[in-house]
Amino acid sequence: MPAAEIIAIGTELLLGEIQDTNTRFLARSLRELGIDLYRTTIIGDNVSRIADALREACQRADVIITTGGLGPTVDDPTRQAVADCLNVPLEFRPDLWQQIQDRFKRFNRQATENNRRQAWVPQGAQAIENPVGTAPAFYAENGPALIVCLPGVPREMEYLLANTVLPLLRDRLPESGTIQAVVLHTAGVGESQVDEWVADLETESNPTVGLLAHPGIVDIRVTAKAHDVDQAHTMMQPILATLHKRLGDHIYGQDDQTLDSVVQSLLAARQWYALAIECGLQGELYRRINSLPNISTLTDLSSQPCGLPELRHLLETERYQRSAQVALGAVLLPEGPRYVLTLCLMTPTLTVDQQRAYGGSPENAPQWASNMALDFLRRHLLQKHK
Ligand code: ATP
Ligand code: MG
Repeated sequence: MPAAEIIAIGTELLLGEIQDTNTRFLARSLRELGIDLYRTTIIGDNVSRIADALREACQRADVIITTGGLGPTVDDPTRQAVADCLNVPLEFRPDLWQQIQDRFKRFNRQATENNRRQAWVPQGAQAIENPVGTAPAFYAENGPALIVCLPGVPREMEYLLANTVLPLLRDRLPESGTIQAVVLHTAGVGESQVDEWVADLETESNPTVGLLAHPGIVDIRVTAKAHDVDQAHTMMQPILATLHKRLGDHIYGQDDQTLDSVVQSLLAARQWYALAIECGLQGELYRRINSLPNISTLTDLSSQPCGLPELRHLLETERYQRSAQVALGAVLLPEGPRYVLTLCLMTPTLTVDQQRAYGGSPENAPQWASNMALDFLRRHLLQKHK
């Protein structure tokens, strides 16, 4: 499989002023194309450091993609750095200058002398016209390696990637195939427990299985490299089936499905309306679910100390007054170095409660508790469904 590296350019990235979302976007696009990404680098606006990084990357990778540093100001260094890496001069391209001026004219503006800088590219490079911004992008060969330079503005970078660069890479690297991933989401079980259930699968090399833990949720990612998308999914099927068999109802969804959306669909399927009462969760449940049609949260209880008997009483009253079929209560209280979450669920025919302890970092406690609460409701709705 061909190998790639990404170099994100911009001092503002190193200063922590903006987040490098371009690398993430590029990484996902390369993955879909079946190109292995071995390294990503962030470098400030410094010509010699960028040139050094490019030289090194060209020794290791077939494709190097840079983003940023193509603007019209003196501190936009990418053009010069690529020229230095290739040992060629920058070359003024009247055709690019014309494109830049035309674009400015369309917006009733005048291109400045600064913008003229953007019409210089390393000698021998192929320009990539940029219809969504001013800076032309370009690509250049360095022996067997290909250097592709894209703008930093995410919208421009994404446009040029989709319309020019990915077709170019597909063309040049016909053997690249694809890397596809499916993510199964589990809730209510800890990472070490999930790890124990899937440990033998985590040693496979293709497809690979990996875990990613969030507060109250563990994602299982299955990734396959194959010639095409269908083949990748066929390869993943047996592993996905095994995971479903082993984890059963602990799996609440796949890929873009969220716990919130799954709970909403389960309620909608029964034409049920749910009411939630939270205490000590800092409005986390409220924020998450109040836009959903079948569930809403009352969140003004944090001033009252709320034990299980009070919670039950509140749930009963509110459920009745608001004509809800289900009422869910979640009370999160610190207890020494830990937190204790009390959950209670009430329907016309039954009341169940549960307590769970949380020992993770305090800032994640509300998120953990809201995941636990929604999962508690989800499991109950699933049971009712069977
Ligand atoms: P332009 O042609 O518009 O001047 P450029 O190639 O010079 O673009 P930069 O000046 O490096 O790009 O960045 C422009 C803006 O794009 C930055 O201020 C930032 O908001 C955004 N940006 C740059 N790099 C990244 C990145 N890696 N991830 C996310 N956003 C980025
Ligand atoms: Mg910049």
